[in-house]
Amino acid sequence: MPEAPGPLLLFDVGGTDVKAAVAHGPDGVLGPVTRVPVQVGDASGAALVEQLAGLAARLLPSQRPAAVGLLIPGIVDEAARISVFAANLGLRRAPLADALAARLGVPVGLGHDVGMAAEAELLEGAGAHDAASVLVAVIGTGIAASAFMDGRRVAAPGAGELGHVPVPGGLQCSCGAVGCLETVASAAAIAREYERRTGVRVRGAEEVLRRGQQGDSVAIEVWAGAVEALAFGLHWCIGLFGTDRVIVGGGLSGAGEQLLSPLRAALARRLSFMPVPELVTATLGADAGLRGARLVALRRLEQAHAEQGSQS
Ligand SMILES: [Zn+2]
Repeated sequence: MPEAPGPLLLFDVGGTDVKAAVAHGPDGVLGPVTRVPVQVGDASGAALVEQLAGLAARLLPSQRPAAVGLLIPGIVDEAARISVFAANLGLRRAPLADALAARLGVPVGLGHDVGMAAEAELLEGAGAHDAASVLVAVIGTGIAASAFMDGRRVAAPGAGELGHVPVPGGLQCSCGAVGCLETVASAAAIAREYERRTGVRVRGAEEVLRRGQQGDSVAIEVWAGAVEALAFGLHWCIGLFGTDRVIVGGGLSGAGEQLLSPLRAALARRLSFMPVPELVTATLGADAGLRGARLVALRRLEQAHAEQGSQS
């Protein structure tokens, strides 16, 4: 990938917050991360584009970035550079990249948040090692995943919605369906289920895990139920893609072997003749999204250079 001829401006737009940072130099060292509540407006994303332009002026007051990398959640058509649908942001067929490029006068690359964070994890984090088929599963408030074959991400719009596949015991999901994996196995679901069964409020899945380690039988059951559901969901991916390495990221991956070890065992029980993939935790942490935004910015820059080259 080419070196950027100046700073790259990076945005990781989530359902509630925008994270923004500037990356400098050939290694793309990230500057301080700014976090602000996301502006939700019309379906075309005009309000969001205005907000991002404002952040650009704030983060780089006296200089234009060489390129911008923008990650958004939902269904993203990366080739057409549009947000097809993002429920939390109210976007529908929003031409975010072109609108922001017109506003700032620089190339803007657009990518799917989980997909590009997963690419960064493969290139700069936990890595693919010798695996030909890798799945990066992000387990936090929700669950999403990204599949890679020989280093190439399956990037079809809508790919990776692992959290919304049905599992036994799944509950009513905010997506409208019943039975989704993330209703039992996300970090939020683990805390919710423990609270429902005990009436005791907990600070999150981490506390449920700790209570389980101290012998709380409900906490142990809730954690085990989440692990079984994850194994059920992963079983499909492994069967379809021959996954040989699973990288687990997101908040729940903070549990480390407390999550991976029972998950390995649950997969081994289920997979019969299929090999159990190697399970590891992600290493980039909360910066994975912005690292992915940097990759998207560099790719867009490369593309812009190629387009210029073919015109001259
Ligand atoms: Zn769902």
